[in-house]
Amino acid sequence: MVRINKNFQKLQGSYLFSTIAKKVNEYSGKNPDKKIIRLGIGDVTLPLPPSVIKALHTAVDEMSEPQSFRGYAPDRGYGFLREAIIENDFRKRGCEIEADEVFVSDGAKCDCGNIQEIFDTGSTVAVCDPVYPVYVDSNIMAGRGGEFLKEEDRYSDIIYMPCTAENDFSPELPDKVPDLIYLCSPNNPTGSVIKRQDLQRWVDYANEKGSVIIFDAAYEAYIRSDDVPHSIYECKDASKCAIELHSFSKNAGFTGLRLGYAVVPKALIRDGVSLNDLWARRHSTKYNGAPYIVQRAGEAVYSAEGQKEIRSLVDYYMENAAYIKDNLSKAGFSVSGGTDAPYIWLKTPDDMTSWEFFDHLLLTAGVVGTPGSGFGPHGEGYFRLTAFGSRENTKEAVDRIVKVQG
Ligand code: PLP
Repeated sequence: MVRINKNFQKLQGSYLFSTIAKKVNEYSGKNPDKKIIRLGIGDVTLPLPPSVIKALHTAVDEMSEPQSFRGYAPDRGYGFLREAIIENDFRKRGCEIEADEVFVSDGAKCDCGNIQEIFDTGSTVAVCDPVYPVYVDSNIMAGRGGEFLKEEDRYSDIIYMPCTAENDFSPELPDKVPDLIYLCSPNNPTGSVIKRQDLQRWVDYANEKGSVIIFDAAYEAYIRSDDVPHSIYECKDASKCAIELHSFSKNAGFTGLRLGYAVVPKALIRDGVSLNDLWARRHSTKYNGAPYIVQRAGEAVYSAEGQKEIRSLVDYYMENAAYIKDNLSKAGFSVSGGTDAPYIWLKTPDDMTSWEFFDHLLLTAGVVGTPGSGFGPHGEGYFRLTAFGSRENTKEAVDRIVKVQG
């Protein structure tokens, strides 16, 4: 009889958002007239920018004519998009990345989850704690987690790097050397960032130890501080140790359209093998290319008009972030994040657990956020709010929270 991959049975993750949905449904069932405001899930709310819509229409029309119809896209993405990516996201920042080091995909989640496949199943993995759950879960599925230790709320074989108020929610070099290191800056869920000299320290560490850094740059468009790199390749010798993942979701509103890319530099060699070659093999075997019309939409993001439009999208969310952060700190909350990221990381008041605070806010203010403990043991006692709501809802939610806490 067929046997299943038992590693899947070790997964804990889906508990978080399904529990939130269950609690919110129960509450709305009992309070049908109450308006619930959701600042929990990290999905955008503003529509796609006009240049993107225009590019989509044009590309759809092209698909209707035999002369301009396109079938399968090139595995790594169309040249027009990869050129726009390297020019805007790398060359303009002084990073030497070439088009054949870029692999276009349908978003960063797949790349985050899939990239571990090119590494040995015995590789050790280090993640921040709290963490975007995909890094952990994809490695658990691959058998790298060991056992789940219920008491400690963690997997025995994963190296957790605590991100706490003491270290400004920025991970420190671990005692045990990992093979794979997942870093995310700006960070989901804490909204923290890794500064230039700290990121250089990670790069030097990875090069010295032979580790590989998976650098998730999904929120780079939210960086405002000069001393925070937008790409890990701004650090010296990062192309010898780092893979970088990008998304069009949070800068350009592509959460439903789907587009992203991975950078695997040719200088990245491990076990005497080019990781660029390995990822190319994996990508072409399991992926048939992002849709032509979506890649044209992605190209439009890099046009002068597109850049202006996405800047104003991001500014809108960052104004929400500032509203949340300023008003909650004025009300006496301890808040971080929200200056280079669309996430605000809130210390729960009165020593409430993350879930106690979730229930309290839902019942008293009708506001939904995400309990920090769902992102890892060091998220306990914290709460994540996102800036992706409408201005009106964001203000109303903050005002309600301040009122019930005041
Ligand atoms: N990486 C991080 C840290 C995220 O928070 C998210 C989405 O929330 C993603 C990647 C996934 O992005 P995409 O929509 O491109 O799959």
